[in-house]
Amino acid sequence: MHIDTIPAPDLAWQQEALCAQTGGDFFFPEPGSSVREAKRICGLCPIRSACLEYALEHDERFGVWGGLSEKERLALRRTCS
Ligand code: SF4
Repeated sequence: MHIDTIPAPDLAWQQEALCAQTGGDFFFPEPGSSVREAKRICGLCPIRSACLEYALEHDERFGVWGGLSEKERLALRRTCS
């Protein structure tokens, strides 16, 4: 679950994380598995923007963060740099 990987000072915004309620399995699927369900949950999450910002700032390489997959975050980083 993502909340386990966030350092303590950043935990406050995580209290509203929907993935904390659903479990982390959707968010760290096996290679080649669908991320559709994780993205659907992220689409309903009130802290999606903060989550994506955190993932980009901390160069999170694995899993779905803020509604974006690993490949999508990498592509976003490339277009923003
Ligand atoms: S945006 Fe997605 S990964 Fe981020 S906290 Fe919300 S449900 Fe979890």
